[in-house]
Amino acid sequence: MALREISKVIIESNKIGITFHTSPDGDAIGSTLGLLNGLREMGKDAYIISREVIPNNLSFLPLGCEIDGTIKAPIYGTDLVIVLDCGNVDRICADLDQYDGTIINIDHHVTNEKYGKYNYIDNKAAATAELIYILLKELNFVFNEEAESVEEIGNCIYTGLVTDTGSFRHSNVTKRTHSIAGELISCGVKNSKVHNSLFDNRPLSKVKLMGQSLSNVELLCDGKVAYIEISMKTLEELNLSHVDTSDIISIALSIENVEVAVVAKEAEDGVKASLRSKNKVNVSHIAESLGGGGHIKAAGLKITGSSLEQAKVKIINSIEKEIC
Ligand code: 5GP
Ligand code: MN
Repeated sequence: MALREISKVIIESNKIGITFHTSPDGDAIGSTLGLLNGLREMGKDAYIISREVIPNNLSFLPLGCEIDGTIKAPIYGTDLVIVLDCGNVDRICADLDQYDGTIINIDHHVTNEKYGKYNYIDNKAAATAELIYILLKELNFVFNEEAESVEEIGNCIYTGLVTDTGSFRHSNVTKRTHSIAGELISCGVKNSKVHNSLFDNRPLSKVKLMGQSLSNVELLCDGKVAYIEISMKTLEELNLSHVDTSDIISIALSIENVEVAVVAKEAEDGVKASLRSKNKVNVSHIAESLGGGGHIKAAGLKITGSSLEQAKVKIINSIEKEIC
């Protein structure tokens, strides 16, 4: 369904719940808060549905405090639930089992399961935030004023663009991504301030984790794979939980001759792995073969009930099949 049709469904609704993928990143949160602020401006009774709390480094965004994990399922009387940046039903950060109303699914993952009544999936979009920008325009939101609300919504969308593109350096970036970023800057977004808020606020313990993880990186498959394991013990020693490791994996991927980088993190119930690809290897295939998903160059998976050692064997086997 086109975004124009989706905007009609939104216009006809009043009580609207917005949710996103579990362990939300900058795009999930930026898209959600961009849309939430926009819908409130339009006078809609819009609210957040989330089992999780906003990550610290994104809490500077407007209405971020509403992502507090209190409303986990749609409230009575909800006309519409919009799920953003989430490819799979079982990764939705909300309890929608009892909800029999309309669901709109807006996303850019190649592996999207099209679980909504209305689905808008554009895997050429660098970030879901790109789609939210276009959607807000369809909703007649004007992006050329220097009003405070425009700047605030712009900060949310800009955050989604920056975080899902590695600060505009990944190959998912298009002319459209830069055009939107440019338009946001012209309506008041302070790009450098957003970058500072996102990236220049690391707790010391996180920097120590980066040092420790990177000094233990292993090169496998003739140096084509950089593999990093992070144990629960390490996380506990550094007093870190729910840690974002996207900066660690991008440094691992920058090693010469490396084609695929992996960060495997031990959790209570198994191992969560992130995969990144530098050139041609499709890591979304690798993740899918192990029950995960994502994009061609950035994917993830969870192996429940597995140790770090067992997960490593499975992941490396799967990478070897894709590389050879
Ligand atoms: P990250 O490595 O940053 O957690 O995730 C990279 C990409 O893969 C994101 O687009 C994310 O949505 C997707 N992804 C991460 N973990 C999983 C997972 O367990 N299952 C699926 N289907 N996708 C995942
Ligand atoms: Mn995204």
